[in-house]
Amino acid sequence: MAEYIWLDGKKPTAELRAKTKIIEGPVTSLEQIPVWGFDGSSTEQAEGRFSDCGLKPVYFVPDPIRGGKNILVMCEVLNADGSPHATNTRAVLENVAAKFAEQNPWFGVEQEYTLYQGDRPFGWPEAGFPGPQGKYYCGVGNDKVYGRPLVEDHMQSCLDAGLTISGINAEVMPAQWEFQIGPLPALQAADQLWLARWLLQRLGEDYNAYAKLDPKPVEGDWNGAGGHTNFSTESMRGDNGIEFIKAACEKLKSFHAQHIAVYGAGNEKRLTGKHETCSVHEFRSGVGDRGASVRIPTRVSNEGRGYLEDRRPAANLDPYQIFTALLETTCGQGFDSKKYNWA
Ligand code: ADP
Ligand code: MN
Ligand code: MN
Ligand code: MN
Repeated sequence: MAEYIWLDGKKPTAELRAKTKIIEGPVTSLEQIPVWGFDGSSTEQAEGRFSDCGLKPVYFVPDPIRGGKNILVMCEVLNADGSPHATNTRAVLENVAAKFAEQNPWFGVEQEYTLYQGDRPFGWPEAGFPGPQGKYYCGVGNDKVYGRPLVEDHMQSCLDAGLTISGINAEVMPAQWEFQIGPLPALQAADQLWLARWLLQRLGEDYNAYAKLDPKPVEGDWNGAGGHTNFSTESMRGDNGIEFIKAACEKLKSFHAQHIAVYGAGNEKRLTGKHETCSVHEFRSGVGDRGASVRIPTRVSNEGRGYLEDRRPAANLDPYQIFTALLETTCGQGFDSKKYNWA
């Protein structure tokens, strides 16, 4: 069983779709996985009469849920003529990543999400609210933790699939969690993030819960959900790397608005300047500053090398778009979202 996974055409934020194909196994290389197709008129990717879209396998891992020889297959969406579909943000990243490959960029995403059951965050009372924030972040105990069995199952499944998941933690708002993917090269980090999201939603079916990637799921004095994106090049990781990190921060400052345009829909509700964020209208970078747009971790500053953390991306980020923006701006001449048909 090969589970073909792709991004649909939902605006403003694409969602995951998947269907199963029975193929000859065991599969040991991409070439063994056939190109397939689907009905684009059911996924906001085609109109009416010419609705066939193509599915091009680009990455596969063992399927940790079905086990055995079964696989999960990340796919790009193609038009009927074989060209990348307008919603295919991965094809753009593939070109940009190739352009800057000699700088050996690495990415790591901290994916925050909020578990929901029906229209309430998981475990929240039917009416009213749980006690105020303060005790939930990295908490332990039945009075503080909402939904741990699913979170543990998800982490183990990511490991069984061979994904580079580097950790998990309970977040500031009850029922809010985070997992981290990376560090990895651009395409792998992005494909793995999408697969890890798919696993989370798929396992959620078994736990009667689902993950919302809404940047601000509950209004008021409740933290939003981000997708901090950690980034480095070989120069940043090497001797005197801190100078390259600071130079990248300067470039990011000049292209703040262009980046925000592709950092997730509804992000302005989260980037208020409160709840460990910097206002969406400002750009600030700083060492160990969790109120900055871009934070240089204290350990990186002390060691004089490492990576930067872009704290602006929302939980509903498309890693293909964000990595494209980070590469174009910090390794190239700058990023203009209008250049791309997906912006
Ligand atoms: P935080 O202190 O911001 O909560 P986390 O431990 O949650 O940090 O996440 C750190 C992230 O940084 C992980 O996703 C990890 O993959 C990533 N990371 C670590 N080193 C690098 C590096 N050199 N380049 C890019 N990303 C990195
Ligand atoms: Mn984190
Ligand atoms: Mn976090
Ligand atoms: Mn972080």
